[in-house]
Amino acid sequence: MTTMDSQPVREALARPLIQSAPAGVRDPRPGLAGLALNEVAAWLSSRNQPAYRARQIADHLWRGSARTTGELRTLPQDLREALATDFRLDTLVDTEVRAADQGTTEKALHRLDDGRLVESVLMRYPPRGWRRGRATVCISSQAGCAVGCPFCATGELGFMRDLDTAEIVDQVRFWQRRLGEDEQHVTNVVFMGMGEPLLNADAVFAAADALSDPARFGLGARHIVISTSGVLPGMERLIELRPHYTLAVSLHAARPELRDVLVPLNRRYPVGDVVAAAGRFAAQTGRRVTYEYVMIDGINDTAADAMALARLVRGQLAHVNLIPMNPVAHTPWQASSRERIDTFAGLLRGAGIGTTIRRNRGIEIGAACGQLAADRAGEPAPDAVARRRQLLVIRSTEALVASASR
Ligand code: SAH
Ligand code: SF4
Repeated sequence: MTTMDSQPVREALARPLIQSAPAGVRDPRPGLAGLALNEVAAWLSSRNQPAYRARQIADHLWRGSARTTGELRTLPQDLREALATDFRLDTLVDTEVRAADQGTTEKALHRLDDGRLVESVLMRYPPRGWRRGRATVCISSQAGCAVGCPFCATGELGFMRDLDTAEIVDQVRFWQRRLGEDEQHVTNVVFMGMGEPLLNADAVFAAADALSDPARFGLGARHIVISTSGVLPGMERLIELRPHYTLAVSLHAARPELRDVLVPLNRRYPVGDVVAAAGRFAAQTGRRVTYEYVMIDGINDTAADAMALARLVRGQLAHVNLIPMNPVAHTPWQASSRERIDTFAGLLRGAGIGTTIRRNRGIEIGAACGQLAADRAGEPAPDAVARRRQLLVIRSTEALVASASR
């Protein structure tokens, strides 16, 4: 068999499909929401301001609706001006919102200081029986992503830059300001927007800390989900230092050959090691890990795939979430049919693995991660799309043959 797993092929698939415009100049002033409380206190004391000003600033930042320092009415004029010189109250320069699912899903495309675009999504779940209503915000951690999963719109953009702490937190503050108008609150935050959170772990951990700090945003730590494609060093840091957050692992394939194609990071951090680390997290915290599994017709949805997945996570506190592939990226693939997904779920449940099937929300507004930003970046060249499709078909077929012959 001729192997396509050569360096040039790998490079061809790793190259971003879409070429983004160069970035503009960054605003040197940090976003206020990215500062720790003691940093705000130190800044105030260096200006001989009374300590209670910190509380006033925090009230505006975490409970208020102001977007510029000029609107901070409880502060004296000179302090407002000094704040504006040194900081930004909001790092999101401009936001475009689209609604779907009768308004229960809203998607935002945020423009950052340098013109980079990132997305966040609000999903409202009304109260049901004894369950309270929820408002889940899905946020981005990077502009683009270097992992390059071929079914993902963000992956097609390639990596542009890390978001800083304030840029991450400000996406949640954006939705809280909107929800606040209806006297509602953000109840859950998931790092499932653009980017690989654990390749920007410092900023992501600092943002999660700000969101879960009772003196700042005040969300329960367990209601913050960090989703990773399997960045082992970041997972180790999470286990050791931040076990109070919830971990989700994007698996998409249990068989190594196939996962090399679907989640190219598998070459660096093999699936066995990633699942072992997730298992340690579950054992140590007593809380289950969610494995995300995008269902792609005829690629990763066979009975053999289900059994391989069951074997891989068996014995762990684990839950599998099956996600029909959103038809967003320039792939040769389709979502699995509902019937195939049900069969796959049945096999997992039969093997004792808790499994749910996720309903894709907001498909019509491109709620899959990165789709709006990818659309804005422009259409890729047709020959590049054709070449990529061809390579993906060959690579995924090879992966199927390789694991069948083992
Ligand atoms: N980079 C992180 C978090 C952001 S991606 C990660 O991969 O976990 C968040 C989730 O969206 C992942 O589980 C990812 O696989 C999924 N996703 C990406 N593209 C998708 C598509 N076309 N259809 C359905 N889910 C998709
Ligand atoms: Fe990056 Fe996650 Fe998309 Fe993969 S699925 S390219 S890791 S954002």
